[in-house]
Amino acid sequence: MAKTRSYKAQKVIEGLRRKVTRQMMLSLSACVHCGLCTDQCHYVLTNPGDPTYAPAYKADRIRKLFKAHVDWTGRVFPWWVGARSLYTDQELEELKDVVFGKCTNCRRCSFNCPMGVDLATFNRMARGLLVSVGIMPEGVALVTKDQWEVGNQMGVLQEEYLETLAWMEEELQSEYNDPSIKIPIDKMDCEIVYTINPREVKYDPRTIAEAAAIFHFAGENWTMPSLGWDMTNFGLFNGDDEFGGAVARRVYDAVEELRGKKLVMSECGHGYRSTRCEGPNWSRSDIHFEMESSVITMLRYIQQGRIKVDKTRNTQAVTFHDSCNNARSCGLFEEPRELLNLVCTDFREMYPNRAENYCCTGGGGAMSMAEYTPQRLRSAKVKAEQLKATGAKIVVTSCHNCVDGLFDLIRHYKLDMQVKQLVNLVASALVAPEKPPS
Ligand code: SF4
Ligand code: SF4
Repeated sequence: MAKTRSYKAQKVIEGLRRKVTRQMMLSLSACVHCGLCTDQCHYVLTNPGDPTYAPAYKADRIRKLFKAHVDWTGRVFPWWVGARSLYTDQELEELKDVVFGKCTNCRRCSFNCPMGVDLATFNRMARGLLVSVGIMPEGVALVTKDQWEVGNQMGVLQEEYLETLAWMEEELQSEYNDPSIKIPIDKMDCEIVYTINPREVKYDPRTIAEAAAIFHFAGENWTMPSLGWDMTNFGLFNGDDEFGGAVARRVYDAVEELRGKKLVMSECGHGYRSTRCEGPNWSRSDIHFEMESSVITMLRYIQQGRIKVDKTRNTQAVTFHDSCNNARSCGLFEEPRELLNLVCTDFREMYPNRAENYCCTGGGGAMSMAEYTPQRLRSAKVKAEQLKATGAKIVVTSCHNCVDGLFDLIRHYKLDMQVKQLVNLVASALVAPEKPPS
């Protein structure tokens, strides 16, 4: 007798047939089970003896479904190719614990697979299928709702955002005793439209002031938008391309309405990847302006002599954590290092680094999934050991998500270390031009 299938399981299977792309098909079919990816994953390294954390095992949860419903081999020889379907909501819940709770989509295993299998891509697809039937961690549902309904991930109201900008403008004017320093809002025809992570408004407004000081002393013609200012995008984490496209479109619309020439994004790995690399596809948009990370903007200002910095103001030992999204997925490896060497005196690499770096363990939206915190912190031991071996007192990263992930593991593993971003170090090294005597 044919097994009955729950309504949600049926919808997930229908969605799978629609969502699998040719690239994913190749990736799903290519695994030869060589096991080379196993030791690349921070979850495996911290859960020895538990095969359920191995990338190939996790990928097989999705591959079995693909074989059962999409690939012809599974229809002809289901037992041979390991095809297996899903029938119950309980099985969907178990899949949720794998795709949200045991993988941060960091892509370290993908980079080390000789067959080019990109687990993170189909792990994200599986997240999207579960989200489409309402199966997801509660935190993912809450953040998605805030970004959709309020317009940003942290539910920051527009008044709160504008008041914070005004407050930071006042702080800057008093710090530099210069009333000409402004944080312009909705100025038309600027060279740069600057967008941020809502975490900056909520928990770290000083980064907004620091960026504003850098733009001011560089003599930049810049502005921040009153709407469409959140460059983060939870679509990367919840696997919903349509949601991701709508969120990215808000930022693109803000730049187009202000006729900005370039969109500059503050230091946020997933925001940068979503807005610059994935958003144009998700939103099916032709983009007519440039997009860059503020890391590149700050480096250019120093190289072109538009701002002066004094690296002797940052003498503590500093190491750098590559955000998975900035580095592995967007190739932003060298610019942060060039910048660090210009603004601090003791920069030391952590090993491994660049494309081989380990995730902060808060990636893939993991910081919003409280139910998986114990296993996240256990997996963070790898990162804690990497950090400790540098002997640095400051770990710098170009990602707000990584700031939270690193802060949490530093506290958990009792490391004597602070977390900073590049903007903090550039601002503290910034030499303001002398004002002519009045
Ligand atoms: S390295 Fe690639 S081919 Fe080998 S087991 Fe992992 S995913 Fe499969
Ligand atoms: S993407 Fe990262 S977290 Fe996920 S299985 Fe691969 S190495 Fe592990």
